[in-house]
Amino acid sequence: MKHFDVIAFGSGSASNIYAELLSQNRNIRIAVIENGPVGGICLTRGCIPSKMILYPAELVHNIKRAGDFWINTGIRSLDFEKIMSWAYDEVMSESSQIENALMSDPRITLYKTNGEFVEDYQVKVGDEIITGDKILLCTGSRPYIPNIPGLSEVNYYTNENFFTMRKLPKKTAVIGGSFVGLEFGFFLSMMGSEVYVFEMLDRIVYQEEPEISFQLEKDLDQHMHILPLTKVVEIKKSGDSKIIVAEDLESKKTFEVPVDEIIVAAGRQSNSDITKPEKTGVKTDEKGWIVVNDYLETTKPNIWSCGDAIGKHMFKHAANYESMIVYYNAFKGRKLKVDFHAVPHAIFTQPEVGSVGMKESEVKGEIAVGYYLYRDTAKGLAMKDEEHFVKVIVERDNGKVLGGHIVGPYASSMIHEIILLMSSADQSFYPVYSMMHVHPAVNEVVERAFGSLAEPDYWADFKDSVKSSALEKRELIKEKIIKNQIK
Ligand SMILES: Cc1cc2nc3c(=O)[nH]c(=O)nc-3n(C[C@H](O)[C@H](O)[C@H](O)COP(=O)(O)OP(=O)(O)OC[C@H]3O[C@@H](n4cnc5c(N)ncnc54)[C@H](O)[C@@H]3O)c2cc1C
Repeated sequence: MKHFDVIAFGSGSASNIYAELLSQNRNIRIAVIENGPVGGICLTRGCIPSKMILYPAELVHNIKRAGDFWINTGIRSLDFEKIMSWAYDEVMSESSQIENALMSDPRITLYKTNGEFVEDYQVKVGDEIITGDKILLCTGSRPYIPNIPGLSEVNYYTNENFFTMRKLPKKTAVIGGSFVGLEFGFFLSMMGSEVYVFEMLDRIVYQEEPEISFQLEKDLDQHMHILPLTKVVEIKKSGDSKIIVAEDLESKKTFEVPVDEIIVAAGRQSNSDITKPEKTGVKTDEKGWIVVNDYLETTKPNIWSCGDAIGKHMFKHAANYESMIVYYNAFKGRKLKVDFHAVPHAIFTQPEVGSVGMKESEVKGEIAVGYYLYRDTAKGLAMKDEEHFVKVIVERDNGKVLGGHIVGPYASSMIHEIILLMSSADQSFYPVYSMMHVHPAVNEVVERAFGSLAEPDYWADFKDSVKSSALEKRELIKEKIIKNQIK
């Protein structure tokens, strides 16, 4: 039985930890277990390739808007295959470089296979059993595949194989209207595919503030058929086509949409069924996510976990942050607590969404809320941005920032002003409200959102109007689709 100082499951965010260890220890022995491409999901089939392909999609989106500014332009041709293979080849080449570096380091043993606990602190890798002084369970997550009759009989894409797609589908069905589904759908729609997004819940990106979801739906409706409250109940095959059978959960009407490709983006699931952490006494919750305390210790001494595997904030920056907490606590004798009060995220469609901290419905206590529309700033006027906005939430008595939510151009960058405030000592909104912003930069929208703080009720009409205009549009779209009037 081979023994290591450290066993690392996964080469995603676990690599931050073993990179630190390697930089400081000449003789350490580390086993890295990886059952997929080296580098983890973010590099090989997540954040990085998706943001690479979304940049050309953003350019197409801008070109389509050029007419609003009296610029007569058009797209002569677009090489879908090149865009896809560019992203895939780049990330796979980086993955190979990382793999080669690991293989050539005598302190590392790379097991390119599943790792599975078989007993207390004993891990089976292929035909071998290995043990380690400290074990890092950074096993990430994988796509959740809903149990839809007929789905397993057709070929479909998830983020695992999406980047191998080389032919643009004429019609695409996306099952799931959250981050991944919307980003893939938006990209394909900008490339020229007719995209249908099916979402069971009553709005897309349910984890966002309702008015952000509704505004995004209105925007994305211009490029795709966004169908909230619609459940895919069956997939049928017909020649080369796949037929989506869907039920409109409001009218209870069932309708069919023939498509060329299906993308399943219905959420994420734990890999604990493969890793079997319970065999070494590591507890998981009812969904298989690894249970950790505030120090990211699992329920078994000397085993730590971080990233998607703990099922909390499934973003790369969160996984990176957590991996450093594990590093200091597990190897540097520290006792650092995780602090999740300001975990941000973004959605990289056009418009973008940027969000951090609490939503209004999560706050307890007295708050003030501010909104500001891009169009009421000089830059927003210049961009002809009519509907997008910044929302901020602060504690009423002391001005402590509790959350910020943005839907609009550059939201993924603008949100950083709010993240910074929330990361400061007193977390007050005052620095951004009182500092000079470059005029007329788009960030003035954030500044002025803090300048418009009021009782939450003050904004009820604004929120209602965003929601009702989205629902009106939704009704028209659904009616057309259900009656098969969309060509
Ligand atoms: C399409 C898509 C786009 C995304 N875009 C963004 C974004 O823009 N920004 C952002 O912040 N986040 C994004 N994410 C989320 C981000 O990719 C994840 O939160 C992050 O990669 C999690 O890192 P991790 O280290 O926890 O897991 P991973 O990077 O997934 O690493 C875990 C590794 O462990 C391997 N593994 C699992 N179980 C075993 C086992 N038993 N044996 C051996 N190996 C095993 C897996 O194959 C995997 O390679 C995106 C995700 C997807 C799917």
